[in-house]
Amino acid sequence: MEMHLFVIFIYAVIFCIETNNAATLKSNKNIDATMEYYKRLIIGDTSKLSELNIFITNMPKGGDLHHHYSGSIYSETYLNWVARNNYCVYREDNQTLKIQKYKIETRVSNLTDSEKALCITVSEIYLDNDFYRALLKRWSTIDYSNHYHEQSPPSKQFFDTFDYFGPISNSYYNEGLMLLKNTAISENVQYIETMLKSGPSISVTDELNVKLNSLNSKSNDSEIDIALTAYFNMVVNDSNVNTIINNYVKMIDTSAAGINDGNFAIRFQSYVSRGSSPSQVFGSLFSAFSSAIRSDLIVGVNIVGPENGIVSMRDYTLHMKMFRFLKQRFPTVKLAMHAGELVLGLVPPEGLQFHIREAIEIAGASRIGHGIDIFYEHNAYELLEKMKQLNIVVEA
Ligand SMILES: [Zn+2]
Repeated sequence: MEMHLFVIFIYAVIFCIETNNAATLKSNKNIDATMEYYKRLIIGDTSKLSELNIFITNMPKGGDLHHHYSGSIYSETYLNWVARNNYCVYREDNQTLKIQKYKIETRVSNLTDSEKALCITVSEIYLDNDFYRALLKRWSTIDYSNHYHEQSPPSKQFFDTFDYFGPISNSYYNEGLMLLKNTAISENVQYIETMLKSGPSISVTDELNVKLNSLNSKSNDSEIDIALTAYFNMVVNDSNVNTIINNYVKMIDTSAAGINDGNFAIRFQSYVSRGSSPSQVFGSLFSAFSSAIRSDLIVGVNIVGPENGIVSMRDYTLHMKMFRFLKQRFPTVKLAMHAGELVLGLVPPEGLQFHIREAIEIAGASRIGHGIDIFYEHNAYELLEKMKQLNIVVEA
């Protein structure tokens, strides 16, 4: 290199370093100023709450990693969809007719006259403000703290909402995702990883059902392994099962059509519900894992439902071993698992002592949903340290 070129090169390097230093200094200054501002908003009384709200809304938030699709759509939207389908909603309970107030009726043309008389259209709901407001309270946790004395306990109230909007919630996935995307962009969220629909159920022979349903959390590992292997071998190459799983993957693709772009990305978790029989749980879990390896949009598998349910508590360890079994066969599938979504008193104390640990150590979870009972776990500090070492993410 000639001398003058060498000098120009050195000047260029120095210029770049200085520019980078200046940019880093400016960036650090901005970070410090933002932190100072944030501290001023959160310290002291609540007079700055509105300003804090504006700050948090504008803050780039990256991704929402714990997201339930049906729980994120507003009841007002579900009512629009009920109207679009000409469904009706029961305005009172009737034990003789097996009718439950606030429930959606989808089989409108099959109703008897007495059933019809109790089922009102969405237009009629809008004309009755008291009923409309009461319905919103049932279909969501709206304003719960002001009327908790007249409702179920908070966890039951929350999980019950899914039964109310359940009949309509799976009707317009693409439209619903578009609404969620628009909200996310307006709140400066760039990524959502949502739980849209559980892994489809699979029907197997009665013999297999009996085999799996004889398992429980105290069954020994080899007994569990023999039963799950028999089930796995039966379904893994079954053409009907593969069609069911491929249809599920197609449904995810169709639902996501037009959502992903340069500003926003949507991905999905397939999942299983904890409250069913061992055979049903394993079938749905098998399809959840199988779909995850067939789709780039499905990035993990989860487990959902009230963790304090009788079956959820009884079969907890068995469920973790089902995850372990399938994780061994589908090692690239990542697990984000609800675990420790419990508080003292919701279940007997011994039920708080092992769920998070088993989700990590037995099932192989790399993310934990909620984990709020962690300080009741056996050797909580050791578990926390382990989670730190393994980079286990906790989703609030
Ligand atoms: Zn959740």
